[in-house]
Amino acid sequence: MDVTTEVTPSEAGTILTVDLSAIVANWQTLRLICGEAECGAVVKADAYGLGLKPVVTALYEAGCKTFFVAHAFEGRAARAIAPDAAIYVLNGMRPDTAPLYADFNLAPVLCSVPEIEDWGQYCAVTGRRTAEGGLLPAAFRFETGLNQLGLKPYDLEHGIHLSHLFDIRLIMTQLAHAKHEATITKQIEKFEIMRAKLPNVPASIAHSGAIFLEANPLYDLVRPGYALYGGNPVPGRPNPMKPVVRLEAQVIQVRILEPGERVGEDQGWVARGPRRISTISAGFADGIPQSLTRSGSGGAVISQGKRCPYIGGVGMDLVAVDTSDSGYVERGDIVELIGPSITIDDFAAAAGISGYEVLTGLGQRCHRKYQKL
Ligand SMILES: *Cc1c(COP(=O)(O)O)cnc(C)c1O
Repeated sequence: MDVTTEVTPSEAGTILTVDLSAIVANWQTLRLICGEAECGAVVKADAYGLGLKPVVTALYEAGCKTFFVAHAFEGRAARAIAPDAAIYVLNGMRPDTAPLYADFNLAPVLCSVPEIEDWGQYCAVTGRRTAEGGLLPAAFRFETGLNQLGLKPYDLEHGIHLSHLFDIRLIMTQLAHAKHEATITKQIEKFEIMRAKLPNVPASIAHSGAIFLEANPLYDLVRPGYALYGGNPVPGRPNPMKPVVRLEAQVIQVRILEPGERVGEDQGWVARGPRRISTISAGFADGIPQSLTRSGSGGAVISQGKRCPYIGGVGMDLVAVDTSDSGYVERGDIVELIGPSITIDDFAAAAGISGYEVLTGLGQRCHRKYQKL
């Protein structure tokens, strides 16, 4: 595992607590909502920054049988934990990497005709089989409107004749954000047209947000990521998921400012009256966006139950907060940056970025604590 898990609380500036039971509970909730459709788990980008190994371990023990990653190395890490799970590699297959997929029984999500040709040729030439003696697995990704990755109908026509060389276990597409419902409706139409060419292959199109759409596009398998990690899949409505993440940092110095004194490298914040300022040991290298100290962002930490705004600019390792309205604060105190009072979505909204960026930006050099009931 990476070095960050070795960081002890007394050595670290920030403490990231990940509630694995809440991740499992969120997966169970989605599974119930999805009824007959299987519920997989997207664990790319180190399980959205929270730690692929502990997250896959917890979900696999809870019965999750299908995992999605972006890259082959992530698939290899998941395979070490989940020997019999289906593992799909979403970013397709780079040239000359087919043996990696075969060695770890990873299913490449094939996105172009050259990828289909590479995988088909590798399977045909080597004659490799899975441990059960079957053809090696693969998925097809269809392009239905995002114009990033996937086969268009024309590509499918050119690649489909090779599909007997491997075992197509899944066809999929990626939908727009749930708020673009009209786009999603068109995407489903396009998906249906392509699906008609492979009518017996299980299908998957739903990310977290799509699971909650009226259109109910669940098909055979859903692929939630963000919602598993406590992000709100239904922005603007109460979050049905349990919170997973808590981020805390230490106060390293407290000082009293006279009116007119300034804070930060750019000297952008001026004390309007006597203020009590605390410098905390977290900065943009810990995933604290610089936009949080914009005036009017509403960005704040919680100190002794009180909201204390970020002020004066976020440095790489430090940021100041105005703790004048909190109780007595001293060196060594802990403040909450994300947690019960400030959700990932609140934090992201204050910073003007997405909650996905928040999650994947955390955990670079924190002490990580994993909670499990
Ligand atoms: C990341 C990803 C998902 C998960 O999306 P969430 O919005 O986090 O649920 C699903 N499918 C694909 C193809 C992805 O890349």
